[in-house]
Amino acid sequence: MKDKIVKLLRKIKYDYTYGLFDLFRRRERSLLTVYEPTSLRHVSVDACRSEDALILISATYPAVEDHPHTLSRLTEGHAISPMAEGAIRTLIASCERECGETILFTSTYRTLAFQSSIYGVNPYAAKPGESEHHSGLVADIKVDGYAQRRFIMSKTGKWMAKHAHEYGFIIRYPLWGEKKTGVDYEPWHLRYVGKPHAEIMYREKLVLESYLERLEQAPFFRFGDTVISAQRGDTLVIPNGVENVCVSQNTRGGYILWFTIPSAE
Ligand SMILES: [Zn+2]
Repeated sequence: MKDKIVKLLRKIKYDYTYGLFDLFRRRERSLLTVYEPTSLRHVSVDACRSEDALILISATYPAVEDHPHTLSRLTEGHAISPMAEGAIRTLIASCERECGETILFTSTYRTLAFQSSIYGVNPYAAKPGESEHHSGLVADIKVDGYAQRRFIMSKTGKWMAKHAHEYGFIIRYPLWGEKKTGVDYEPWHLRYVGKPHAEIMYREKLVLESYLERLEQAPFFRFGDTVISAQRGDTLVIPNGVENVCVSQNTRGGYILWFTIPSAE
């Protein structure tokens, strides 16, 4: 009981006061339009460029092994997947320039064994395998005096909530997504999903779980020049004339692929 009251008071103090602008931010609908290719061809997953930026790791879809790829070192004790390295460095440099505060990493990549040690002393932490930190696509950050929930009270916290998507990142556990993600609001937890996915998720107010479900509602969706498609099986279909297809596993037994529309269309 006491725990529940403390949690509620903390929620009112931090989340509902400082996270409000994001909670009531207008949701843009239908940024994605259904795309109908005139003719299709098959392509194997191996022939596409692998960009596993849309991997979902959660209590429902736990990671079963440590990150299989090499990681890029950010600072002492902190590393991120090479595909997110350039984006996180640019994001942090832009934010520090705008806000004048120094950003520090508090947690980035975690192995399953490390998560076990955290879970051993903090039962509120995610169970080993269920932490998104296993993906190598996450950075938890803080600025001096503003860590964890207090982070959203800082200039940097507010800037990140508004601009991280422009660099391919999402606030993975937003206040408005608690029910869907099953995780309490974490303004400090940045997750790389890449472009243009981050922008769509931000503007349509979709958490990663909802975005992956949304993509399953039609074979092909279009956003600007990009076509995005959720598919199953190891043989994918793409429109004739399309080259340079990017593919990500989606941890739901399939793949998300995306490519630029050929200029003739
Ligand atoms: Zn985190």
